[in-house]
Amino acid sequence: MAAKREEMEFAGNTPNAVEAIAEKHLVQPWPVSETIGAEARGFIESGDGIYVTDAEGRRLIDGPAGMWCVNVGHRNKELSQVMYDQAMALSYNSPWYTTNEPSALLAERLAGHAPEGVGHVFYTTGGSSAVETALRFMQFYNNVRGRPEKKLIVSREGAYHGSTYLAASMNGRPRDHDWMDSAKEQVIKLSCPNPFRRPKGMTLEAYTDFLIEEFRATIEKVGADRIGAFIGEPVMASGGVIVPPPGYLPRMRALCAEHEILFIADEVVTAFGRLGHVFASKEVFGIEPDMITFAKGVTSGYFPLGGVMIRSKLFEDLRQSNHNDAMFAHGLTYSSHPIGCAVALKNLDILEDGLLAETRAISDHFQSRLKALEELPLVGEVRGLGLMAGIECVADHVSNNPLTLDLEVGKRIDRHCQALGLLVRPLINMCVMSPPLTINRDQIDTMAEILHKSIALTQDELV
Ligand code: PLP
Repeated sequence: MAAKREEMEFAGNTPNAVEAIAEKHLVQPWPVSETIGAEARGFIESGDGIYVTDAEGRRLIDGPAGMWCVNVGHRNKELSQVMYDQAMALSYNSPWYTTNEPSALLAERLAGHAPEGVGHVFYTTGGSSAVETALRFMQFYNNVRGRPEKKLIVSREGAYHGSTYLAASMNGRPRDHDWMDSAKEQVIKLSCPNPFRRPKGMTLEAYTDFLIEEFRATIEKVGADRIGAFIGEPVMASGGVIVPPPGYLPRMRALCAEHEILFIADEVVTAFGRLGHVFASKEVFGIEPDMITFAKGVTSGYFPLGGVMIRSKLFEDLRQSNHNDAMFAHGLTYSSHPIGCAVALKNLDILEDGLLAETRAISDHFQSRLKALEELPLVGEVRGLGLMAGIECVADHVSNNPLTLDLEVGKRIDRHCQALGLLVRPLINMCVMSPPLTINRDQIDTMAEILHKSIALTQDELV
């Protein structure tokens, strides 16, 4: 059973002491040079349901569910118990030459949820390693099939696909590349499909046509025989919760199929209930990818696990090549981890036993309560799908011009929200919301009220 923090052996430290140790020894993710290796971030003591408790003992709604991942909520007894039970039964086995029961059973369950024919899974340790695996598999596939030239990868501005080298090379946010090296020569970037930022006066239909034509022209210019894959998040998450215009994804999918370009849907955020389904590709967007990457919500963040669903036909193609000895020299010590897979199986039970249906039922309320924030002059657009939403702030409602970065609007809103009982995820001019799927209507109302007050307070500060 989950123990309360005060019952834990290591829990004698004050928040200040923990922060001081972190400041001295921890390298935090996404640090800046000014504070790298010398930064303490806000202490979180514990979590329970949709709430986390901070250093002062205040309960805050976990607006981003950690990092889009704590889908069934914090302190779930069933997930905690299954983790313990599996560790006592088998805590680890080498995937190099053995198989465990949870990983096989999970593979079968996942194949049942994936689009027809996408029947295999390769497990990883998280989202970056899932994307890395999908891209390296594409390279291997085309090498073995005698098409070594067909390996360029098409990605999009605004995308986020991870922090390992090849996956990070697909990222499309400027800050991901400003100071970092990448495999630029292997990537082609298309425009970000952001309806809010489409050219003024252009209809949504014309905008979709424009985006599709850009991809078609790119294929023609570069040559289909040089492009191995397209990778895209069905809804761009860290790029600002960008829902593409209607028809965009199916038409991108069709172009890929026409030119034998593998379509990789990066569902690290959108899978496992965030949009009300185990995988969103087919159910929400009507597309059947060749590969689907997943992580985060697969274990509700309780254990680091990710993976790639892969179309089974691709393995047949490989078996029919003339290179029987060609090895896909790619594997991870923690591939198929028995504890991660056992947690994922229990997590799937919870989703299937009602949480997916409840998420679908409550999503409209969540979206409409947040949409109402557009009445505030600072808010340019609230957009989203399922239980993910982005609130984009702008200089004014007429121009919708972005605010200058030095105003740090996202951070200001977050500060006010925290004082009122809500954690948000600030993203420059935006707040991103993706609460645990267990959130109820009243809690959504509270969240929306706190956001309203906090954005209004931020607005007052700026005048
Ligand atoms: N892909 C997407 C769409 C993501 O949002 C993320 C992380 O936020 C990743 C990949 C990388 O996942 P991880 O941080 O688990 O490596």
